[in-house]
Amino acid sequence: MQIDVLTLFPAMFTGPLTESILARAQAEKKLTVELHDLRKFGLGKYKQIDDSPYGGGAGMVMRPDVVVDAIEAICKKKKVHRIYFTPRGEKLTQEKVEELAKKKNLLLLCGHYEGVDQRVIDGWIDEEISIGDYVLTGGELPAMVLIDAVARHIPGVLGKEESAHEESFSKSLNRKKEYPHYTRPEEFRGMKVPDVLLSGHHKKIEEWRRKQLS
Ligand code: SAM
Repeated sequence: MQIDVLTLFPAMFTGPLTESILARAQAEKKLTVELHDLRKFGLGKYKQIDDSPYGGGAGMVMRPDVVVDAIEAICKKKKVHRIYFTPRGEKLTQEKVEELAKKKNLLLLCGHYEGVDQRVIDGWIDEEISIGDYVLTGGELPAMVLIDAVARHIPGVLGKEESAHEESFSKSLNRKKEYPHYTRPEEFRGMKVPDVLLSGHHKKIEEWRRKQLS
């Protein structure tokens, strides 16, 4: 899968993309993430990318000419599913993540200030996604959340021990939240591991786990 990210702050992605499972997925060529600096498409000497809103009011709006130039440059040679992050979008769920993980190419547009001119959304965006009912300073954190969640569903990205199969919100758990986990020691500061998990009785363990789903 290839994910192109259009952002004013590419450096923010260092860390999430350069460590752990996402770093390994890229090294093994299961995932390619390309960061595009929106500022490069800015206008004039100062590389302007925003302007004041028609109708007045506080804040700035990202200009459609700048953003569309950037989108078209990225999507020139391939069919890309284009996502814009906004609190107004559809809430990101595990089902949506699984659906997006089947796509070959994604473009993630990270907004800033008041967001992008509506004409960009109407003409060049396939879907608007929100990561929750709160407002962040920009779309970079939502983009990182989406990349991380989607990458876990790309075949081979997770090792066998890290499988996404029986996890919270997965189909196999009826989209419910997972059961609790315990490991050694058997007793920790007076708190014991539930007896059933020490019984070795697989059917009873399975039943107990099913009952814990919420
Ligand atoms: N004016 C917008 C509003 O009231 O809905 C908020 C803009 S916010 C300060 C700047 C950018 O951050 C947005 O354009 C969007 O890309 C991103 N953003 C903020 N909160 C988000 C959320 N909950 N989900 C997805 N993106 C978000």
